[in-house]
Amino acid sequence: MNCIFCKIINGDIPSKIVAESSNYIAIKDINPVSPVHILIIPKEHIEKPGELAKFDGKILQELFELVEEVARSENIFDSGYRLIVNSGKDAGQEVAHLHWHLLGGRKLGKLG
Ligand code: 5GP
Ligand code: ZN
Repeated sequence: MNCIFCKIINGDIPSKIVAESSNYIAIKDINPVSPVHILIIPKEHIEKPGELAKFDGKILQELFELVEEVARSENIFDSGYRLIVNSGKDAGQEVAHLHWHLLGGRKLGKLG
């Protein structure tokens, strides 16, 4: 499959991995929009957020544990952060493999 994130997960494309759990990797975004810009990516190729519902609910528990772990290790746990999913073209989704953007390290503007 011609998916950049699947290639990163398989190790075919290099990336800066900041954390990993059974079902996710967390990497630095190649084109950061804030001092901290991490992508949290499920290892399974999923395209839409709702597809996560077919998995055991523990996969969401694991996601939020990883978010907290990375926010602490990147020193944005206390200063604050934003977690974003882009889905579809109006949201500007570039990579059709579900991922969360974890942004922080500066005052973030209003959404939209
Ligand atoms: P989207 O717009 O799909 O929500 O976000 C895709 C993100 O993936 C963008 O912020 C973009 O900078 C990032 N990205 C695209 N290709 C690569 C890559 O090869 N490596 C890394 N680390 N990030 C990438
Ligand atoms: Zn993929």
